[in-house]
Amino acid sequence: PRIFRNEAALTPEYIPGKLPHREEQLKQLETYFSGFLEEPGSMYPKVVLIGRPGSGKTVTSRKFGNYVIKSSNRVRYVHVSCFLNRTLSSVLKDVGVQLNIAIPKRGFSTEELLKMLLDMIKEKDAYAIVALDDVFHLVNNSGPHALGTLIRLGEEYVSRGDRYRFGLILISQDLTFRDQLDRSSQSALGNAVIKFEPYTKDQIFEILLTRAQEALLDGAYDEEILEMIADVAGIDENSMDDHRGDARYAIDILWRASKLAEMKGSERILPEHVREAIKNTLRGIRSDELRMLPLHEKIFLLAIVKSLTKNPNSPYIPFGLAEDEYQVLCEQYGEEPRKHTQLWEYLKDLNTKGFVETRTSSKGMRGRTTLISIPSEPLVTLEEELRKIIEGELG
Ligand code: ADP
Ligand code: MG
Repeated sequence: PRIFRNEAALTPEYIPGKLPHREEQLKQLETYFSGFLEEPGSMYPKVVLIGRPGSGKTVTSRKFGNYVIKSSNRVRYVHVSCFLNRTLSSVLKDVGVQLNIAIPKRGFSTEELLKMLLDMIKEKDAYAIVALDDVFHLVNNSGPHALGTLIRLGEEYVSRGDRYRFGLILISQDLTFRDQLDRSSQSALGNAVIKFEPYTKDQIFEILLTRAQEALLDGAYDEEILEMIADVAGIDENSMDDHRGDARYAIDILWRASKLAEMKGSERILPEHVREAIKNTLRGIRSDELRMLPLHEKIFLLAIVKSLTKNPNSPYIPFGLAEDEYQVLCEQYGEEPRKHTQLWEYLKDLNTKGFVETRTSSKGMRGRTTLISIPSEPLVTLEEELRKIIEGELG
């Protein structure tokens, strides 16, 4: 028996035909950029999209990108991930690559790169709407000046006697990145903000339904199955859980449940498949973010996961235990272990990224120790995911 019509329609990169409950945001984007699209170069529009993870910011911006390409043969759409490009020069190079403008990989300062990019764009008479996705990574990593430079590009064009070449979409979880900018960048940015609220249960249900219609065969699912997933993923007035309202989580559960049904040779997705899928779906942690950690930070995180798994009765494990487990793993992988102080740095980073929780305990004979826990993720899935990534990296 088959379950899938088009499995790709349940992958994170897929841009669905319809985006239920984001029509308003799309319309707003079209309105903010209509002047630029009708008369490219006449203005420098800038819009901020904010909302929690999984609220549809990225997919809506990309969908708007498709609209840009359809409605103008002069304006291009460029989507830059600041998770992957955390410096201004890396952002500029990515913009260059996407616009087919050859700018040198190394040997030039950021200012020189910017000048080259602007010269080439003028020469090609090109226009682009640039979306900087998860822009807080750029600000946190490179300081507010990098982003300020892009926002104040308008002055640059004027002083060069050129037209405005870009429109800007800044995507973030909230507005804290804006508060970090200097005053003149803040005022140049203006206050066009489009909000993405977390999805309710009913909204998640509709999103799942449209995705299921594209991805799954008609007989493979009942609407109750989608309701069951919407119940755990949609926001709930009675719950303070801030992972709720996340469409990514909901779609991931549906994909896993479908896979389970397929693997077990079932003709349709059953509640049991959904239950198991929920158990196995990562919530706050995204696999692409795991992938980005340095190799030994991943191995250390795997060591924490393994130590927690070996101590099922205790929510916390002491730092020393994770360190021992890390040594064992390094030996297995044939890797030179990093020093104690480096492991502390990793732990700090894992904590700020929200992958682990830590606390200090003064209990016990040996004084204070640091305790580590992973309260919100299924350890089995995390271990599987980490092993896959680490072993892929080690070849
Ligand atoms: P964000 O960028 O806000 O973290 P995404 O745009 O990446 O969220 O959305 C997360 C996942 O949910 C993606 O797979 C996306 O395609 C899907 N999604 C989000 N909103 C909708 C919607 N309104 N309709 C259909 N799919 C959606
Ligand atoms: Mg996103």
